[in-house]
Amino acid sequence: RAKADGRNCARPFDRKLETQALKRLEIDRAVLGRSPMDAIEILLQPQIAIGASDRQRRFEVLARWRDEDGAIIMPSDFIPAAERNGLIGSVTAAVLRQSIRLLREQLERDDEGVRLGINVSAADLEARGFARRLLEDLHAADVPPDLIEIEITESLLLRMTPSVKTSLNILDRGGVTLSLDDFGTGFSSMVYLRELPISNLKIDRGFIRGIEAPRDRNLVAGMIAMAHSIGKEVIAEGIETPRQLELLKELGCDWGQGYLWSRPVPPEEALQQKGGWTDGSGQAISGAGQM
Ligand code: C2E
Ligand code: MG
Ligand code: MG
Ligand code: MG
Repeated sequence: RAKADGRNCARPFDRKLETQALKRLEIDRAVLGRSPMDAIEILLQPQIAIGASDRQRRFEVLARWRDEDGAIIMPSDFIPAAERNGLIGSVTAAVLRQSIRLLREQLERDDEGVRLGINVSAADLEARGFARRLLEDLHAADVPPDLIEIEITESLLLRMTPSVKTSLNILDRGGVTLSLDDFGTGFSSMVYLRELPISNLKIDRGFIRGIEAPRDRNLVAGMIAMAHSIGKEVIAEGIETPRQLELLKELGCDWGQGYLWSRPVPPEEALQQKGGWTDGSGQAISGAGQM
């Protein structure tokens, strides 16, 4: 029927679909045209201890795809493209290689080290040997496994096959920390919280955005209480304002992450910052001083 309308009469709806399809093709082409080992760059975003007594320096690793012409493609575009083209394993391998190298360099610089959170896809955990290979790579680089945290999303739990479960257990027994990302947006079955060796919950930024309203505040309070009652730490994602931070502190949240402190930045820049994260009012944020 759209065809009968003729090319020049395409309705806006059709044009939107066409634009989306074209964009998808373009991203597929970009992702297929370059090796992830060349294209992947990693950025770090700091995680700040806001209630936790642990003062370890922690960062989340966020990947960017650098096109041949220098343009940056964001993960919301290239991760699905890598997944549908069977390249996600190479993307993850590139992220892990750079992350492990960074951990090694950091251990040589000061022996405390930092901890890095790495995002993985369901296909990574389904791949045979993923967990064992990661542990071997850490061993070969002489990096303690507890300096790596693997972030899995709630939506990944929908694909909780025996091989995913096996991978998670191998990682856990090997000393790698596991976190549940985007908590509250997906399929948060209490069974998984009970059965999987997950140490941290990352509350999705959607709830933090609304935290000044009672409804979301009460939901966040409930999530934090529930997490603590089963011995898990809570990280709030997407903190942008001092007021959001203040409310999260009141609710006993352990860690925070967001533009309030820093956007994801190149590793050298993130690691240089030794302290003095502020809340934007010039006041040093207590608990963040050790960063
Ligand atoms: P995520 O793991 O939930 O990561 C947090 C996202 O929120 C990041 O977007 C980060 O830049 C953004 N963010 C952090 N603080 C704030 C804030 O205060 N305000 C706002 N508006 N946003 C904030 P990014 O880097 O675009 O990554 C998006 C998603 O892509 C990630 O969500 C993760 O699911 C996925 N991703 C990123 N890197 C990788 C990777 O190496 N492998 C895989 N499999 N997925 C990745
Ligand atoms: Mg994440
Ligand atoms: Mg998240
Ligand atoms: Mg997310």
